[in-house]
Amino acid sequence: MERRDLVVIGGGAGGLVVASIASQLGLATTLVESEAELGGDCLHYGCVPSKALIQAARVAAQVREAGRFGLDAQLGPVQLDAVMNHVSDVIAQLQQHDDPERFRSYGCEVVQGRARFIGPDQIRIGERVLAARRFVLATGSSAFVPPIPGLAEAGFLTNREIFSLRSLPPRLAVLGGGPIGVELAQAFARLDSRVTVIQRGPRILPREDEDLVLALQQVMRDEGIEFCFNAEVNDVAMQDGARLLRCRVGDDMQHIVADEILVAVGRTPNVQDMGLEEAGVVFDRKGVTVDNHLRTSNRRIFACGDVCGPYQFTHMAEYQAGVVIANALFRLPQKIDYGVVPWVTYSDPELARVGLSEAEAQEQDIAVEVLRFDFAANDRAVIERAPQGFVKLLVRRGPRWLGGGRIAGAAILGSHGGELLHEIALAMRSGARIGSIAATIHAYPTRAQILRRAANRRYAGTLFSPLSRMLAGLVNRTF
Ligand SMILES: Cc1cc2nc3c(=O)[nH]c(=O)nc-3n(C[C@H](O)[C@H](O)[C@H](O)COP(=O)(O)OP(=O)(O)OC[C@H]3O[C@@H](n4cnc5c(N)ncnc54)[C@H](O)[C@@H]3O)c2cc1C
Repeated sequence: MERRDLVVIGGGAGGLVVASIASQLGLATTLVESEAELGGDCLHYGCVPSKALIQAARVAAQVREAGRFGLDAQLGPVQLDAVMNHVSDVIAQLQQHDDPERFRSYGCEVVQGRARFIGPDQIRIGERVLAARRFVLATGSSAFVPPIPGLAEAGFLTNREIFSLRSLPPRLAVLGGGPIGVELAQAFARLDSRVTVIQRGPRILPREDEDLVLALQQVMRDEGIEFCFNAEVNDVAMQDGARLLRCRVGDDMQHIVADEILVAVGRTPNVQDMGLEEAGVVFDRKGVTVDNHLRTSNRRIFACGDVCGPYQFTHMAEYQAGVVIANALFRLPQKIDYGVVPWVTYSDPELARVGLSEAEAQEQDIAVEVLRFDFAANDRAVIERAPQGFVKLLVRRGPRWLGGGRIAGAAILGSHGGELLHEIALAMRSGARIGSIAATIHAYPTRAQILRRAANRRYAGTLFSPLSRMLAGLVNRTF
């Protein structure tokens, strides 16, 4: 049996950070990855291919709109094959960062195979047995496939298969109106598929405030996307070479015909067939249970990323990896802090969020002032003819000493919203008050000015109050 300081299971966003740092610190580290290449879902089946596809779709939409800029351009029929070549090319470029040789040059052993625990401090990879002082579980998640009668027989796509499509499905049914479903629905619609989003609830993106979501839904409808809300797919069958989805909507049965079905109704943590029971690691359907130091029920084993949640984002997996490094490698008792977590749905316009939503503030009885500003009144957005959406800043009410003036959350629906969000995330993280945003000079004409304009709304009442007017009059008459 071989002995290591650290074994990292899963060579994706979280695992790669831990393995890279540990091996550069000189620890005897083994990184185990079941796939042929490192990079995980984000690089191969998630963030990277989806954003590359979204960019191709955005270009297609821009070509269609060229006339608005006084240009004459025609979009020919979309060859999905060529678009997917662009997607693969982007993956190949970014794959270079995750070259196993780079990790080996740090002294990290990179092993291809499936790791399975055979005891509290041992794993088996094929014929090999490794014992280690510490383990990190970073095995990610997979698409959850609901048990819909006929779905498996009819065939469906998840995020693992959709980027391998070589021809455009004329009709695409998207099961699920979460971020993945929304992003891919819009991308395929822009590439010319007729897309129907089937969603259980009354609207897409249930975590986001209704006003933002309704505005985004309208944009998507205007682009030709259809929504089937409050719908449960009863069953799927093949009919005349196409897939027929029978959806229960209240007391009605609606029929949706599609050439392909994308299943995007949620994620399942990868905890199966890993021998977690033998290792004494407690888990449930949400993933591996961890404490606020990301330690599992086995003191030697830590976890990060989608396998433990609660947020399933690449930037969260990377942040958690840092907390694991502090706790597992340096024995520094660093607690996880989910106070300021930004995320973005890469629709167009983007929907970016950090901190509380207005609905959450109400549920939690937190008194906030909502400062709103429309992109239609932002010069840059008008110049670039992207006036859709608005910003919402949530500012705590109350005296300063009780946190009054601090930003409780923000949501931005607008072009480049994800880029704008980080000014707010930094302000929240550093405890800056809304006044700091208002007092910061923002370059003209940038979209970022919208944040200052929204912040200024807080002071408009005071600036133009009867008292201010009286003072202005008095000062000007006196001097
Ligand atoms: C379509 C889509 C779009 C997304 N877009 C975004 C986005 O824009 N921004 C964002 O922040 N997040 C996005 N995500 C989420 C993001 O991909 C994940 O949050 C991130 O990949 C999680 O990182 P991880 O390290 O936990 O898992 P992964 O990166 O998936 O890595 C897990 C690795 O473990 C390996 N593995 C599993 N079991 C074993 C085993 N037993 N032995 C050895 N290896 C094993 C897997 O093969 C995999 O390589 C998206 C996800 C999807 C599906």
